[in-house]
Amino acid sequence: MAGTIAIAGAGFSGAVIANQLANEGFMVHVFETRDHIGGNCYTQRDPDTRIMLHKYGPHIFHTDNKEVWDFVNRYAEFRPYTNRVKAVSGGQVYSLPINLHTINQFYGRCLDPQAARRLIEEESDQSITAPVTFEEQALRYIGEKLYKAFFYGYTKKQWGCEPSELPASILKRLPVRFDYNDNYFSHCYQGIPSNGYTPIFEALLDHSNISVYLGQALPDNHLKEYYHTFYSGPLDAYFDYRFGELGYRSLRFEEHSYEGNYQGCAVMNYCDADIPYTRITEHKYFAPWESHGDTVVYREYSFTCGRMDIPFYPVRLVGDKLLLEKYVGLGKDVEGVTFVGRLGTYRYLDMDKTIEEALFVADQFLGCVRGGARMKTFPVSPRS
Ligand SMILES: Cc1cc2nc3c(=O)[nH]c(=O)nc-3n(C[C@H](O)[C@H](O)[C@H](O)COP(=O)(O)OP(=O)(O)OC[C@H]3O[C@@H](n4cnc5c(N)ncnc54)[C@H](O)[C@@H]3O)c2cc1C
Repeated sequence: MAGTIAIAGAGFSGAVIANQLANEGFMVHVFETRDHIGGNCYTQRDPDTRIMLHKYGPHIFHTDNKEVWDFVNRYAEFRPYTNRVKAVSGGQVYSLPINLHTINQFYGRCLDPQAARRLIEEESDQSITAPVTFEEQALRYIGEKLYKAFFYGYTKKQWGCEPSELPASILKRLPVRFDYNDNYFSHCYQGIPSNGYTPIFEALLDHSNISVYLGQALPDNHLKEYYHTFYSGPLDAYFDYRFGELGYRSLRFEEHSYEGNYQGCAVMNYCDADIPYTRITEHKYFAPWESHGDTVVYREYSFTCGRMDIPFYPVRLVGDKLLLEKYVGLGKDVEGVTFVGRLGTYRYLDMDKTIEEALFVADQFLGCVRGGARMKTFPVSPRS
């Protein structure tokens, strides 16, 4: 099948590459093991309430990249959406990320930004000069009380290990704010598509050059049958787990329906270790432009991912990184395949970064075809 491209996965990585290459005249076959397109961004209306459900967890689009923002807006109408996360800790409700309101509520004070900053400096452990672990990072920047209240139990449930076993980099993503800004994200473009994410994938794949095969894994003979393959499935699975499994956390969503409202907001984190779920999402609040009398919530449980589970979050502990190096080494010898996306490169990627990288990879490929050069196996480094 010379000239035809195979793509494993119909999430943003696969769908964007398929779209870009089809636009340049390539025939593209997209294989997707699930029975739907969209990958983890898949949304579907609940048949009873008609509420739009984020089937694999809440997805809010946020980016500073105007090119990516313009790109997604070509395929869907986005509505402004601000993610305001609440958190239950010790029987009280707070706002996250930790901001001036959280600090004042937690300490029962009425501090201005300067006084709050001084308090947190006093609380923090200044003797930790170069934090290596998540726990050290938390103790260094917010101190033991806030760490125990908001991060210790939640992190233990989310990652299935002690925060002292996790790298500091995980906490760097969560700033403390000394103002009342409770927007979870700080990007200049933030929103949710008015009719969910699935129509974006339908539009991206709606091309006469693209054929989508749902419920079908990438065929084993793809190297022989296809001009080139883009693989957005798990890197270790591509090599039949030859060196063992890369560590992932998986998620289980327990669905409940109620009359009226349940918690009054989209996302409520549960920080205490003795509550088994990490958070509850109430989906109708992701679409405040819609009106629904009843409600659907997901209780989210995190667990160690086995081969038959859906990999959600790469763990990337030291052992995983060593294993990753081995798989990257193997991949470099495979000609005709490019590994992409969050699973193909074993990194946590937000949607905007996924799209940015997919556009880059498609562009690189087209450049290689035009110049007669060999396409790289890892145009985006899994080490980044
Ligand atoms: C709980 C959760 C919440 C998130 N929330 C946000 C958010 O709010 N904002 C944000 O920007 N990002 C968010 N993300 C990240 C977002 O989901 C990813 O950026 C995006 O899904 C990455 O797309 P992808 O195509 O690389 O991977 P995926 O969406 O996982 O798609 C890969 C696809 O490949 C398929 N596949 C695997 N193996 C094969 C095979 N051998 N053959 C054929 N198909 C195969 C899989 O079934 C899957 O559908 C969240 C992620 C999680 C886990």
